[in-house]
Amino acid sequence: MRRVVCPGSFDPATNGHLDIIRRAALLHDEVIVVVGANLAKHGMFTVEERVSMLQEMTADLPNVSVETFRGLLVEFCRSRGVSAIVKGLRAVSDFEYEMEMAQMNYRLAQVETLFLTANPLYSFLRSSLVREIATYGGDISSLVPGPVERCLRAKLAAPNPG
Ligand code: ADP
Repeated sequence: MRRVVCPGSFDPATNGHLDIIRRAALLHDEVIVVVGANLAKHGMFTVEERVSMLQEMTADLPNVSVETFRGLLVEFCRSRGVSAIVKGLRAVSDFEYEMEMAQMNYRLAQVETLFLTANPLYSFLRSSLVREIATYGGDISSLVPGPVERCLRAKLAAPNPG
């Protein structure tokens, strides 16, 4: 059983994330998408909202599940029998950070990291850009899956609690 994780903050998930999750699901028996909860309270969406959007957008992928984790990702991997972390690499700018994380995670727990190169359609896409475009009324329909677009619109239409 090859079980891997696709970790991230997913605030919110984009078509770029979905592309990586789909490709990871084709290559492995089981994919757990893990939403990191360590810094989540500073984000736009709550962890529960991120999980529910990810569940909806991956509902057609039977070997994909969504969970949250707090603490060290390698501990989550150890406790769940995960053999590798799958990450997307967009550009050279991602490389230095990702290489550091991959080497540290291997050092900590001998968990491997596998990199999939970003789909060129989405290599410019990151969650913070999506939030910015949506905040200023731009069209995000080709950048995020339907459930995320609906949640973003609802969030921006709601009165600001702060
Ligand atoms: P971001 O890096 O956009 O803040 P995350 O922390 O949620 O988002 O990213 C989780 C993982 O998804 C990272 O490995 C990141 O490289 C990958 N990823 C994010 N956006 C894309 C994209 N557009 N194409 C491919 N991979 C991506």
